Amino acid sequence: MTGKKRDKERKKRKMIKPKKPTVGIFSFTSCAGCQFEILDCEDDLLELFSRTNITHFPMGKAKNDEGPFDIAIVEGAITTPEEAKKIKELRQKTKFLIAIGSCASYGGVPAIKDFYTEEEIEVPVYKSTKVIKSIRADGIGNYVKVDYYMHGCPPNKCEFLTVMKDLLVGKTPRHPEYSVCKPCREHKNPCLLQMGKPCMGPITNGGCDSVCTDHRIPCKGCRGPTEDANIDPLVHLYEKMGYNDDDIKKFFISYAGTSKVFSKIVGKTCDFLAEQKPQQAQQPQQPQSQQEKTEVNR
Ligand code: SF4
Ligand code: SF4
Ligand code: SF4
Repeated sequence: MTGKKRDKERKKRKMIKPKKPTVGIFSFTSCAGCQFEILDCEDDLLELFSRTNITHFPMGKAKNDEGPFDIAIVEGAITTPEEAKKIKELRQKTKFLIAIGSCASYGGVPAIKDFYTEEEIEVPVYKSTKVIKSIRADGIGNYVKVDYYMHGCPPNKCEFLTVMKDLLVGKTPRHPEYSVCKPCREHKNPCLLQMGKPCMGPITNGGCDSVCTDHRIPCKGCRGPTEDANIDPLVHLYEKMGYNDDDIKKFFISYAGTSKVFSKIVGKTCDFLAEQKPQQAQQPQQPQSQQEKTEVNR
């Protein structure tokens, strides 16, 4: 190939080079731990920055655009009417929306409040609860269509990078389709359930490489329930171990109590499902019904 022809080919390749996707990273009610996990990607993050156009990331940069976005990564639960409005606006200007972490996926830690009364949760903390305008805490999927749920509290940074790489090469990211028990058994750990410890590994989405049980800490279920989670036998086992209804309720509401699977069991141990908190009536727009939600392994 002559030099002229080579230059022409190079020019052509430049012309068809795809535009860098615009990415926004957003945060709602959260501890910001998921964003720290992204920042912890260090060198890989620089690579990611060079291959994308990150136009909104208040934790990482001073100047931030308001969209539109090819990819929006959202951390945190929806807990106020303002947040509910904002997530709907964001959805309208986003092509691919990712819920990152258990707060954005299920309401996570902020949603623990949904399972108690105002008197139990707010009165001991605030002098006056009149100023509190929070609504039932929930994941963003209760308000908008979510294209991918990245589980965990916080998620595994390797999973974050894999998902981003998949999207950059035009692949649909996929969840690991196994529970925490799989890597735990592969690592030849002693089973904590057999030792009388309340491990939630059998019903929890894998993908964290059993980081807790590898250190003999029972899995607390931070990655949420697997699609085929068989809850009842585990609950019976907890009861046999001597845990009472209140203990069991706490196991299930820590990270994913609002998920369809867990709310079924939590409903047996507390009456939150029948209870309508006063704030719910003030909610400007009702969340979408369960049927309207995106069912991506939530
Ligand atoms: S999922 Fe966990 S780490 Fe992420 S914001 Fe919520 S509480 Fe923090
Ligand atoms: S320790 Fe937990 S995660 Fe590991 S095999 Fe037993 S139940 Fe499963
Ligand atoms: S072992 Fe369980 S609690 Fe620990 S990171 Fe994995 S899913 Fe979360």
